Amino acid sequence: MSKGFLLVISGPSGAGKGTVCRRILERNKKLVFSVSATTRLPRRGEKEGVNYFFVDEEKFNKMIEDGDFLEYANVHGNLYGTPKKFVLDQIEKGNIVILEIDVQGALQVKQSYPEAVFVFLLPPSMSELKNRIRKRRTESEDDIDLRFKNAFEELKFVDEYDYIVINDEVIEAVQKIEIIIEAEKLKVKRLRNIIDSIMK
Ligand code: 5GP
Repeated sequence: MSKGFLLVISGPSGAGKGTVCRRILERNKKLVFSVSATTRLPRRGEKEGVNYFFVDEEKFNKMIEDGDFLEYANVHGNLYGTPKKFVLDQIEKGNIVILEIDVQGALQVKQSYPEAVFVFLLPPSMSELKNRIRKRRTESEDDIDLRFKNAFEELKFVDEYDYIVINDEVIEAVQKIEIIIEAEKLKVKRLRNIIDSIMK
């Protein structure tokens, strides 16, 4: 069995990461989603252990101290982190793990786990991005402005990623990410064990 790998998906708030990830997970049973811990309060409809593990700052800091995170960052004023054990166990089991995290977190993953695959999801335009954040009606005006401002900051890091996917139509963005996954599975470095068994 070959090992799984990490698929990191970043992109500005409103690019549609949540929707795209949900669709990919529905269509591909060998993919698993890494549920992050966050100090952000739950939004309407969000569920503990499904969208996030909602924790207070004290608990989050304890998790940092205990080395529980693969990466963590302060994003738009709240702390977010990827639980390390779950992710590494899933890779060992041969699964592909989706990390929907910001650019600061992605850069940390690149340091500690360079064989991960990095995808940057973009909206078709910045005005469409603002429309989408507004339409969600989950953030205050101040928070919308902060997220919009941060979008430009995040875009500066796009060169650190392997692939860009523009999310105009969700299904097309999903299909493009599926193509990336299929191509990545065929990388020589991921198929070493198969080559060895053929040569026997
Ligand atoms: P939201 O509050 O809209 O759910 O997420 C805000 C931002 O935090 C998004 O860009 C999302 O990708 C990012 N994020 C979610 N979980 C993590 C995580 O575990 N680590 C990092 N670095 N960013 C995260």
